[in-house]
Amino acid sequence: MIIIQPLRDVEGGVLTYLRQGIAKELGVEVRISEINLKLPIEAFDELREQYNADKVLSYLRKVVKVKRGKVLGVVNGDGYSPGLNFVFGEAELNGNYGVIFLERLKEEFYGKPSSRELFLIRSLKEALHEIGHLYGLTHCPNPRCVMHFSNSISDTDIKEASYCRRCRELLGARLELR
Ligand SMILES: [Zn+2]
Ligand SMILES: [Zn+2]
Repeated sequence: MIIIQPLRDVEGGVLTYLRQGIAKELGVEVRISEINLKLPIEAFDELREQYNADKVLSYLRKVVKVKRGKVLGVVNGDGYSPGLNFVFGEAELNGNYGVIFLERLKEEFYGKPSSRELFLIRSLKEALHEIGHLYGLTHCPNPRCVMHFSNSISDTDIKEASYCRRCRELLGARLELR
């Protein structure tokens, strides 16, 4: 099971879209946590105006306990990882906790007119990418595969919201191990 955990007032529409998209692509049960969590102040870097992805993951590990299954945090905000200007998301490799940040998935962030469609599909791509890491997938050399590393939003737009054949096979083997 995958639990989607909203962080900082994420609008319901994107959560429902993610739940359906993830369930369809992976064939696993996906639930949306009914608790809307805030993030602790120490996870926020005031100078950068960004959340530290490592600290967000630590917070999730502490607060959202699950017996079985994986947790994907969805942050209404921007994130970074020490050494990187920003990240779209971060996840434990072969672990239980991952996170995506929505801010840079919006066209408005780049000074362009808002596009709901682009925002939703980008969110799903980043969610599937981090979930892939949770199931042990590493980055894929195929630029169309959702496990390809996104250095910028155009990389995300080139990717499809699905795993390539090779990644899908690896994932299938992992999912049966559950
Ligand atoms: Zn990655
Ligand atoms: Zn792949």
